[in-house]
Amino acid sequence: MLQLLVVGSVALDTVKTPFGEGHEVLGGSASYFSTAASYFAKVNLIAVVGEDFPESHLAFLRRREIDLAGLERRPGRTFRWRGEYSYQLNEAKTLETQLNVFETFRPQVPAAYRSPDLLFLANIDPELQHDVLRQVKRPRLVACDTMNFWIDGKRDALARLLKDVDVLIVNDGEARALGADPNLVKVARTIRAAGPKTLIIKRGEYGVLMFHHDRVFAAPAFPLEQVKDPTGAGDCFAGGFMGYLASTGNLGDEALCRAVVCGSVMASFAVEEFSLDRLRRLDYKEIEARFKEFKRLTFFEDI
Ligand code: AMP
Repeated sequence: MLQLLVVGSVALDTVKTPFGEGHEVLGGSASYFSTAASYFAKVNLIAVVGEDFPESHLAFLRRREIDLAGLERRPGRTFRWRGEYSYQLNEAKTLETQLNVFETFRPQVPAAYRSPDLLFLANIDPELQHDVLRQVKRPRLVACDTMNFWIDGKRDALARLLKDVDVLIVNDGEARALGADPNLVKVARTIRAAGPKTLIIKRGEYGVLMFHHDRVFAAPAFPLEQVKDPTGAGDCFAGGFMGYLASTGNLGDEALCRAVVCGSVMASFAVEEFSLDRLRRLDYKEIEARFKEFKRLTFFEDI
């Protein structure tokens, strides 16, 4: 099994959707990513929390066998994010971002983490993402996420980072903002010319597109009867994607397509409930069963 390292946020989220709300629940890009990836591979996590971060959340991450040697606890308050979704559930409206301990955070990669095979730079300040990349031996694959908050606020730092990234995983709105065009195929060309050879665009309930070499691969979102909270779907997608790649060690083209489906499977579970609640009681057999359902969902014969 390959070594998988993630740097990102560990957060307390307050989320409101038309189907309920969660107050200061476990969130953050690295929490979602590592929990989803932990079904496939061992994950090392780098992030920071404040003194107020509940022990019960740490216990949950430990139960998932996520290595927390790189999770610093600092004086101050934990990062907080507050967001809301409208009836369509497709895009979060950020109501408040409190960086708190992230404001002065400088990630220190522990010695044991410095040769990762796969590195995921989950959504945080692109300067911090680059900081981590500089501290490790060049991994076999570097993937990265970001959001409009950084595309608007730290465009130059993000552009520098993208030169060193193999796979960029963003949603359609972010891709359009980065590529400065409404057409996703044109956007893919622009972004891939700026660094990442592979671009994965998440389109919420419309599924995922992967632009890779000369090929575009599409996976639908699983048609679910109950979607309560889309928060973290993107990070769970990335966790399933990278976790699957780490579990097999195969980074070939077909493996990337299967990884996209594993990512879509993990995202489909995550949105069924608030925070990481669905993943708390998920077992690997359910993941395999949904992977098979995805295959049936998309299979068709030649005309
Ligand atoms: P996603 O829904 O997959 O895009 O990610 C949602 C998670 O991102 C939430 O749990 C938030 O805590 C986290 N998040 C929101 N804004 C930021 C930010 N500016 N930096 C880092 N993490 C963030």
